[in-house]
Amino acid sequence: MDDKRKRRCSFCGRSEDEVALMLTGMNGFICNECSVQAYNVVTEAMKQSKNGSQLKLEDLPKPADIKKFVDQYVIGQEDAKRYLSVAVYNHYKRLMQPKGSDDVEIEKSNIIMVGSTGTGKTLLARSIAKLLKVPFTIVDATVLTQAGYVGEDIESILSRLLQVADYNVEEAERGIVFIDEIDKIARKGDNPSITRDVSGEGVQQGLLKLLEGSVVNVPPQGGRKHPEQKFIQVNTQNILFICGGAFDGIERKIAQRLNTNVVGYGAVKQSVAIDRSNLMQYIAPQDLKAFGLIPEIIGRLPVLTYLNPLDRTALRNILTEPKNSIIKQYVKLFEMDGVKLSFEPEVFEFIVDKAMEYKLGARGLRSIVETIMMDVMFDIPSKKAKKFVVTLEFARQQMAKANLSRLQTT
Ligand code: ADP
Repeated sequence: MDDKRKRRCSFCGRSEDEVALMLTGMNGFICNECSVQAYNVVTEAMKQSKNGSQLKLEDLPKPADIKKFVDQYVIGQEDAKRYLSVAVYNHYKRLMQPKGSDDVEIEKSNIIMVGSTGTGKTLLARSIAKLLKVPFTIVDATVLTQAGYVGEDIESILSRLLQVADYNVEEAERGIVFIDEIDKIARKGDNPSITRDVSGEGVQQGLLKLLEGSVVNVPPQGGRKHPEQKFIQVNTQNILFICGGAFDGIERKIAQRLNTNVVGYGAVKQSVAIDRSNLMQYIAPQDLKAFGLIPEIIGRLPVLTYLNPLDRTALRNILTEPKNSIIKQYVKLFEMDGVKLSFEPEVFEFIVDKAMEYKLGARGLRSIVETIMMDVMFDIPSKKAKKFVVTLEFARQQMAKANLSRLQTT
């Protein structure tokens, strides 16, 4: 082929026999080397524009705004909301610190939330996630085991974060991870050496590495690591971890501590002030240690907050107040069939009574409403009805009819 007819890279001018590969476009060519360079230039430019445009302090919701937003979905739990709002806001501020500046370095403050099951821990995390400007994921600590045992490796926690960040490592490294059921990896028993505790202390040691901030090898698809797999390296230094757990029985540890503390001078005065009906509010790091978390983990979760047990008023509000409350969801379901659904106010009290009776907390509300509405939901779409009123009598009948034992075991 003569020199003129040879294809030449439109960027570097080299001919096709000088390069390994030449790609043909509509009106030109690009060689393999120039395309790699172009790719690098583009990704770098994209990164800069993304980082530059993403977080600006004035655009970020302030802690009060974050709390107000969460208020739409979560009833009560004022303390936990305030702690979380501040933590998220501070997380943004830390991310905005220029890299390598010799300014005061803001360290991250991972959070631990303690509260009985069904009091809104996951709901809080989910609601906050709706307005976050960084990747967010919820993972469950129960599936984790120490490396080499059946279960998932600790690093798989970050696989989920990578997935929601579309495998953009830099984005994932700014994200927030909610680790649910952290209490399930507590050390079983006080003596760690009797039997191997593969889902307890070993996992805590592994988790420590993530919380502290280190570069870890993450299996892209999660699960168990295996030798042939390619890993993605993720630096956890800027990832905020929020942990939540029910810590069943921790009230006993709190009570023990409070009792020993009040022995001695001034004891009487102090014990009067303690509200024994809600001991959770006095939770302190020592109680987590007594429960079986290792001190190093506790040290890496410096923000400790709690959720209150839900009382009658809270349950009543949860039924109707949140933006997507259970009752609003049913009204919507009926509306789609052209039926206007309404409830006599006494029905709500009745539902709350039942929820209290079965000790199912907020989780029980849904199953009770479901039981009451089942027959109507079955019949009404095939009828010509325009409205339906749930009366107290109807609710009572439906509950009596339903298999109560089924409810009690959910
Ligand atoms: P936890 O994570 O504490 O076990 P969840 O957040 O999963 O509990 O709560 C279970 C369900 O109960 C939620 O989906 C929600 O419908 C309801 N719920 C619990 N607590 C609240 C609350 N404080 N405000 C509104 N709804 C709540």
